[in-house]
Order: sequence, then C-alpha cells, then structure tokens
Amino acid sequence: MDQAPVPLPSDSSSEVERARQEVARARSITVLSGAGISTSTGIPDFRGPNGVWTRDPEAEKMAHIRYYLDDPAVRRRSWANRLSSPIWSATPSAAHVAVADLAAAGQLRAVITQNIDGLHQKAGLDPALVVEIHGSAHTVVCWSCGASTSTEQALARVRAGEEDPACRVCGGILKTATISFGQNLDVGVLERATRAAAECDVMLAVGSSLTVHPAAALVPWAVKNGATVVIVNGEPTPYDHLAAAVVRQSIDEVLPRIVAAATGDAMGDAGRAPGEGGGGR
Ligand code: NAD
Repeated sequence: MDQAPVPLPSDSSSEVERARQEVARARSITVLSGAGISTSTGIPDFRGPNGVWTRDPEAEKMAHIRYYLDDPAVRRRSWANRLSSPIWSATPSAAHVAVADLAAAGQLRAVITQNIDGLHQKAGLDPALVVEIHGSAHTVVCWSCGASTSTEQALARVRAGEEDPACRVCGGILKTATISFGQNLDVGVLERATRAAAECDVMLAVGSSLTVHPAAALVPWAVKNGATVVIVNGEPTPYDHLAAAVVRQSIDEVLPRIVAAATGDAMGDAGRAPGEGGGGR
C-alpha cells in the first residue's frame, strides 16, 4: 500500500516567507532542535519515516534505563551498536551551519537540542550556547560513582575486546551521559532550557516530532512567555496550531534560506562555495 502523503500547509512558499519575516525581525532566537536536523548527516531519527523505531518498534522498549542496568546482554548490544554508530564520523549539515550563522549574527539566545550527537558544537557554535537537554553521547558516566570519561576511551576498550567495559574507579556500570526513558533530566540543564525558552522572542523548532516531554513542552512555554514560534519539520507536530509559520520541507534545503533573512546573507547557503562555512568562523 502507498504511504499516506504528508499534509502540507496550505501554501508552503508563503509559510517560508512568513518564517523568514519572523526570524528577520527577531532580536533573540532560541532554536529547539531534534533528530531531524541530523538525518542528512547519516544519523537516523527515531520517529521519522525511516526512523530507527519506525522500522523496529521493539527497539523503543529497549531504550528504557532498567533494561540497560538489569541485563548485561542489553549492555553488550548497546556497546556494539555504539561502536558502529554514525555519530562519531558525522559532519555538520547545512542546517547546523545555518544555526551557527545565527549566533555569528548576534541573534541566538541559545540552542536547546534534544540531540546527543554534538553536531551543533562541531559546526562552530560556542558550547556555552548549547543546552543538551538529553545529554551527550560523547561522554560516559559510571552509574555507581559518577566518574566520567570520554566515550572514545570506552569504545577503545570495546574494540580491544571488553564487551561491557566497567568503571575503572569502582567497577560500576558505564553508560553514555544521555537520558534514557525512565531517567530524570538534569535539573540544572532543564532550568537553563526553560529560561532560554522564556527569554526569546522567536522559538525556531527544527527537526523534532515534538512528542518527547518535557522538551516538547518548551514550545507552549515559549508562547506563554510571549514568543512567536516557527516550526520546520517534515511531518505535522502536535504544536503546529501554536506556530506563526509551519514549514514542512527538507530542513537542509529550507533552514539556510530562513536564517539568511536574519544574517543578511541574501543567498543563504545556496550562495556559498562548497566547503565554505558561514558567519566568520
Ligand atoms: P524524532 O525522531 O521524534 O522526530 C524527528 C522528526 O524530524 C520527524 O518528525 C521527521 O519527520 C523529521 N525529519 C527527519 N529528517 C528530516 C529532514 N531532513 N527534513 C525535515 N524533517 C525531517 O526526533 P526528536 O523529536 O528529536 O525526538 C527523538 C529523541 O531521540 C530525542 O530525545 C533525541 O535525543 C533522540 N535522538 C537523537 C539523535 C541525534 O542525536 N542525532 C538521533 C535519534 C534520536
């Protein structure tokens, strides 16, 4: 059977224009990014048409922290998956570069990202501007003593034959510093995210199904605090009705055009030579 077509907003070119206008007049933009901003780099999302969980709904269950802590077989599989993850070699997309351009133009309040891939920072964004609400895959933490080390070091041990490397300080279980189902968000990080959502005049939500809470609730929170919302995502989200503009197009294609209205780059990334960055980095 054919897949149901994605419903497009009534006139997508006027939605892009509206998004451009909102971004152009914003003094302070908070970007809320999700897995969709990274799919073009080779890192799949979870719930998009080719998402990891769309293709294998069982995998979603295994994302619960209790399976990881209770079952050594789940940990061994997780380490093997990490070893072959595209995250380590991914390079930032045109959309990550466009977000970094907003910072260079002085308009970025913060990026709240649900992503754990570190690609906003790799695109040149000051790490101080990035709020990793679901943590980072680049660090591992011991579940018992809290000691942390780089994921690269832990993966080197897996490559050398340790299928489930234990903490070198106390022998406890190591896990990437990411938030699994069943884990609480870091209170300080959530506080920073809540502030960044409340203190912007435009929230630009990019590449998120806006179904994971509390991250998704930052959209109505921003609206409640007076922000205008622009949503750029290939599929409908539960908060489209709150947005001043809803752009359902390829993120890499459209975000540089939207952001160009703010950065003064009339051509967006389309006007750049291949390999050229943006915004003075
Ligand atoms: P999600 O998988 O729930 O939704 C992604 C959305 O992006 C989908 O609606 C999809 O249609 C859209 N999308 C994907 N590629 C697109 C493109 N090129 N152009 C336009 N739209 C596109 O992602 P989420 O809302 O971020 O929530 C998933 C959770 O999974 C988050 O907690 C996140 O931490 C985690 N995750 C992170 C990564 C990463 O770090 N790159 C990857 C997968 C999952």
